[in-house]
Amino acid sequence: MTQTAFPQVDYDIVIIGGGPAGYTAGIYAARAALKTLLVEGAGTVSQITITDIIENYPGIPDGIGGFELMQLFKKQAEKFGLEIAPKDVVSVSRVSENPVTWEVSTADRSYKTLSLIIATGAMWRSLGVPGEAEFAGKGVSYCATCDGPFYRNRHVVVVGGGDTAIQEALFLTHFADKVTVIHRRDRLRAAGMLQKRAFAEKKIEFVWNSVVEEISGSDFVTGVKVKNVQTGEASNLPADGAFIFVGRLPYTDLFKGLIDLDKTGFILTDENLKTSAPGIFAAGDCRAKLFRQVITAAGDGANAVHVAELYVEDLKGQTY
Ligand code: NAP
Repeated sequence: MTQTAFPQVDYDIVIIGGGPAGYTAGIYAARAALKTLLVEGAGTVSQITITDIIENYPGIPDGIGGFELMQLFKKQAEKFGLEIAPKDVVSVSRVSENPVTWEVSTADRSYKTLSLIIATGAMWRSLGVPGEAEFAGKGVSYCATCDGPFYRNRHVVVVGGGDTAIQEALFLTHFADKVTVIHRRDRLRAAGMLQKRAFAEKKIEFVWNSVVEEISGSDFVTGVKVKNVQTGEASNLPADGAFIFVGRLPYTDLFKGLIDLDKTGFILTDENLKTSAPGIFAAGDCRAKLFRQVITAAGDGANAVHVAELYVEDLKGQTY
């Protein structure tokens, strides 16, 4: 049997994404002395860095800002010598078979690797109603931490009933006089503790069983058109700002056709974070899973490296 040389690659693992999943993978991979590169988006805004306070990350009893927490993740990864490229990935392609190798390209160069960990995260979803795009940055916002201080002594609406909506509604009470949460059902999805705080907060009001059909204004938002989904009744609610928190969409467009995604675009993995392609693993909010938290993303990152390491060792141990 003829033996062919093991393919020349630049890295054992390339990690795409610089959030909690990516950096945890980076820490574990660098500490395991795997030849690793982490490519983090140059201009992408990550959810964690715009999160005001994270108070359920174990070991930090007083809570910590999302940006600050990510700086600590990064510092820890750098301590172990992780190579980091602050660049946007423009394509990923399969360059050889037997063994399969991958090429990750940015605008100015390409990196060949035996395995890939995709940790690209997700971003806020929009409502898609008239006025939403028109008034983005003029009263429509997806980030209370960024824009909350502009609404001192004003009235804002928050759309959504999940953890994000309720946490951000509570944060907005630091500035606004009144925060009206508009939710499409008669019960919140948010965690019990957040619900309890929101129901006890005098500045927060709820409009139940209702959806926003339009955001209106002139130069700036002046109100929202709300429809009660049970009675069909429509009304106009005056407001100075509309904060939309109705879930997330994954950053996975690059991987369409390369690996299996669910109908919303989240990456399908098995329990060991393997995707449908050999040597590609996914970690954090970009993959299809039930619970998206910093801690679950970090857990995914550590697991993905473990599985990728076994995969790479197995490849290197084979004869070609
Ligand atoms: P989410 O849990 O998916 O909640 C989205 C909310 O928006 C739901 O209440 C949903 O209503 C509503 N919604 C969705 N589409 C809508 C539409 N077109 N019109 C009106 N309402 C719509 O999203 P999330 O709150 O961003 O949370 C995402 C993940 O991050 C969750 O796992 C959450 O636990 C986690 N998270 C954790 C924290 C924390 O621990 N501190 C903070 C933020 C987020 P329904 O309820 O009717 O589906």
